[in-house]
Amino acid sequence: MKFKYESQPCGRCGGTGHYSFNQVSGTTCFKCNGSGKQLTRAGGAASKKVTAMLDELWNTTVATILPGDMVWFNVSQQFLGTRMRWAKVARVEPSGAVVSYVENGVEVKVDYLNIIVTYKGKESGAGYGPSMTIRRWKEVPAETLNKIRKMKGVIVEAE
Ligand SMILES: [Zn+2]
Repeated sequence: MKFKYESQPCGRCGGTGHYSFNQVSGTTCFKCNGSGKQLTRAGGAASKKVTAMLDELWNTTVATILPGDMVWFNVSQQFLGTRMRWAKVARVEPSGAVVSYVENGVEVKVDYLNIIVTYKGKESGAGYGPSMTIRRWKEVPAETLNKIRKMKGVIVEAE
């Protein structure tokens, strides 16, 4: 399912997604990231509330992720690209990378894990610390869904 928030044309670019040229992003409007849209007041408020509810439902730590889980993952095959989708975990492996930091004067070493997912037959992977937060899919309870449906500024779509 998908949640759509009430939006209006971007106030900076007037809905075109483009604005004056700069070296970094070309003519892409930075306020709307080229989408030409921005959330209305009701859409923005709903987005915050729904995100908090879904975080509570879905957020878990990386250490609990197992093959077969559905996770909210960047499946972009492009460097620096972001394309978040629900994807199935194929493998969780030690990455070989160790990140160390000092906590209360003691050095802590953390072994990073690689989570490898498949999305539409293609693999994507990323390294995570075991205590990092990741979203794992769980059916949204009817009660939560009803609450969301009653909010102003959000539309629930079947996907
Ligand atoms: Zn814009």
